[in-house]
Amino acid sequence: MLTRLLLVLFWLVPMAAFAQSHPTVLLLNSYDSQYPWSEALTRGVKDEFSKTFPDYDLHVEYMDERRFVDDETYHHLLVDLLQYKYRRYTPEIIITGDDLAYNFMLEHAETLFPGTPVVFSGVNVFDPDALKDKPNFTGIQEGMEIQGNLELITHLQPDVERIVLLGDRTELGRKMVEQVDAIKTQWEDDPEKARIQLDVWDDFTLKGLNERVKDLGEHTAILMMAIHMDNDGNYFSYRHDLPLLAKHSPVPIYGMWGTLLIGNCVMGGLMNDPYQHGRNATKMAISILNGTPVEAIPVKDKAAYAPVFDYRVLENFQIDLARLPPDSKIVGKPVSYYEEHMMLVNTTVAVVVVLLGIISALMVNIHQRRQAQKKLDEFNQTLETLVERRTRELDARNQELRKASTIMQSLAYTDPLTGLGNRRAGTSELMARIERGEVDGSPFHVALLDIDFFKQINDTYGHPAGDAVLCAVGQVLRENIRAADRVFRWGGEEFLLLMTCQQAGECTEMLQRLRSQITRMSVDNVARITISIGTASFADADTFESILHRADQALYAAKHNGRDQVVAF
Ligand code: GH3
Ligand code: MG
Ligand code: MG
Repeated sequence: MLTRLLLVLFWLVPMAAFAQSHPTVLLLNSYDSQYPWSEALTRGVKDEFSKTFPDYDLHVEYMDERRFVDDETYHHLLVDLLQYKYRRYTPEIIITGDDLAYNFMLEHAETLFPGTPVVFSGVNVFDPDALKDKPNFTGIQEGMEIQGNLELITHLQPDVERIVLLGDRTELGRKMVEQVDAIKTQWEDDPEKARIQLDVWDDFTLKGLNERVKDLGEHTAILMMAIHMDNDGNYFSYRHDLPLLAKHSPVPIYGMWGTLLIGNCVMGGLMNDPYQHGRNATKMAISILNGTPVEAIPVKDKAAYAPVFDYRVLENFQIDLARLPPDSKIVGKPVSYYEEHMMLVNTTVAVVVVLLGIISALMVNIHQRRQAQKKLDEFNQTLETLVERRTRELDARNQELRKASTIMQSLAYTDPLTGLGNRRAGTSELMARIERGEVDGSPFHVALLDIDFFKQINDTYGHPAGDAVLCAVGQVLRENIRAADRVFRWGGEEFLLLMTCQQAGECTEMLQRLRSQITRMSVDNVARITISIGTASFADADTFESILHRADQALYAAKHNGRDQVVAF
């Protein structure tokens, strides 16, 4: 028993692993590959499968029932064909699209694909009893949305008086008419809707239908239920025949088969979406392949019907867009440049706003800098003016100081009474001449001149008279010496004379002339003014003191010898 169980497990594990990566899938469509509904549903199946199983093995079959509806021979051949074909490629799961493929599987799955799970989709006419002994079946009903669309018409066209419902006499067509009959009964009891006439047209040739719609009155609408074939067995192409019908019709055509109708001159309606429908069915199939038992996945009883409209047709019939259900999808609505490039526009606006912000901040900054610069310039200007004024003041002050200093200097070296250079000036000049004489042996002479008996003059004529005598002597000396010679008031009534003479005799002569000039001088009533002069010549070894000492000795000698004379040492 245990060995058997293990054997089964060994067999199941690799099988499961295989199913995970390469499941073989059969998609059986009721119609043909050109039929937009089948095309979109197939695309939904493929997209959803390839997300989970990139390497899955898909076989798509098209029963082409819109062309071969109710053709028994064709159906027998189809059974044989599928049996023959899939004996070799056993599918692990089957998905069906629309009623006829579903009905086909209900009838033949047991024989053709025993035990294989079937996920149906797009089934409009569904009888739950049919699945009683079909444990391998689950799926999504497509249902129909006749009632909802009739309500929508009355909402969008409040003055509608007549609604023509287009169908055919296939089984699906008959089921639809049954629903319409039920709604009719219901509306007859509704005081608001009783005035609206509901007419089913399912007995026509396509040509006749085009003629018939021409006569439809003003307050009328058409609801397209489903047309497969006309009375002459002509295939009804939604792509080619529907626009032609719309062209003949003076009233709008509504419908519920999204992809089939939108873009083919139908105004809109509560519509299903085959692509989404295909994906939803595939999700169920994937769940089964991943191990969920079929019984655990209940049948979904209706596809989602959402309001979809064609903008161009709405415009044609001047339908007020404000009356459309709030979540309506409007196909072909011209989008504004903003709607189309919302991201780009928003990003650009954001960038521009940020840039404007930066520019404003920079401009504020520049303005502040300029203001600051202006203040700084003003401050600098004031400072410069201040510095200039201060500099001028300082210059003036310096000039005054220089003047004062010059005056002070001249005062320091000038005798105030006689206006001659004073002892300080005489000392400095004498030292300079000694220095020069020491360097180049320049000859010069020093003479000390002393007024005789000056004390007596003071005593006799008074001190002011003495001053006058001092001034007069000073003036005579200043005016009569040579340009290169210098005279100083040496102290009291004594004068120092520095002379440059080539020979000593030359100086003595000049001194004698000076002495004699003073003798001839008259100051006030002072009787006689004389001076004694002692002079000495510069010798190599002379110092300041030595040369002055000799001159003083000579002066002393002149005094001693009787005054009013010149003595040279
Ligand atoms: P001696 O002939 O020997 O030189 O006699 P003396 O009177 O001239 O000499 P003494 O040294 O005795 O007197 C000098 C006087 O000179 C004394 C002093 O009052 C006077 N004296 C000195 N300086 C001034 C001065 O600036 N003005 C006046 N009026 N008198 C002065
Ligand atoms: Mg004297
Ligand atoms: Mg004297």
